[in-house]
Amino acid sequence: MIARHFTRPARHTGVMLGVGDDCTLLAPTPGHQLAVSVDTSLAEVHFPHAAPAAAIGHRALAVSLSDLAAMGATPRWCLMALTLDDADDAWLEPFAQGFDTLCARAGIDLVGGDVTRGPLSVSVTVHGEVPPGEALTRHGAHEGDLLAVTGSLGGGAGGLAAWQSGERSLDDPLLAAYLLPEPRLAAGQALRGLASAAIDVSDGLLADLQHLCDASGLGAALELEALPLAQGLVERLGEGALQAALSGGDDYELLVGLPEGALESAQRALGALGVPLTVIGRFTATPGIQGVEANGPGGWQHFSGATP
Ligand SMILES: [Mg+2]
Repeated sequence: MIARHFTRPARHTGVMLGVGDDCTLLAPTPGHQLAVSVDTSLAEVHFPHAAPAAAIGHRALAVSLSDLAAMGATPRWCLMALTLDDADDAWLEPFAQGFDTLCARAGIDLVGGDVTRGPLSVSVTVHGEVPPGEALTRHGAHEGDLLAVTGSLGGGAGGLAAWQSGERSLDDPLLAAYLLPEPRLAAGQALRGLASAAIDVSDGLLADLQHLCDASGLGAALELEALPLAQGLVERLGEGALQAALSGGDDYELLVGLPEGALESAQRALGALGVPLTVIGRFTATPGIQGVEANGPGGWQHFSGATP
């Protein structure tokens, strides 16, 4: 019953046997490594139940694709496990369309899925490919490497605040950033061979920076005034804008380590894609994240990892 919404011919290569058998048969590019990740988006936890169905479909795939972007992987195939409280065609059709439109743009094929009854949630598994040894990882940063971020920060939290205060137009840049995030796939691939480490900003800049630091055995010094704030964020959140950029989450930008000598090449490569890359600090041998102080700008007050 649900399958008709999602059954489409594979657009890309490597699908030897598509939907309709017990398993899908896939043929990865010989010699490449598979990058595999899964994310579950639960209504009222990760997205508003009343969000447009097309945006829910887009977003569920986007958050999984963002993990491929952070590895520098090229998307190939995905699987969806959908739990529905109400299998209404008027909801499913735009949901499938939102999912499929991003599939087409990302060059990924949906090759299988499963539908059950229950509270609305969407779980998406993505498979990407990367040449051996070229994947971007969290553990490769070195002391002295620059810390840089794509795009802007705080849009996810700003968009959630906009939704909560009644904004419903996806023309609002913050709401669009929250409900229709764009995974930085091309940027991630362009940073292969340039970035020393990478992660996507899903949990918030500070939390994800801490993941990079932990994996690389380093600390970091942040320059708060350098943070690229999302368009409209200060207008929406006032003094809370900085906190949103630091710990709001759901931004799906790439946070990367860059050897100083690679900065110019990285900015040129991403500039050609229309993606800004902003230096926001540097990795240090001293553990912890410096530059973020209790009661600092924005009234941001609780950060246990800071070592001023
Ligand atoms: Mg991630």
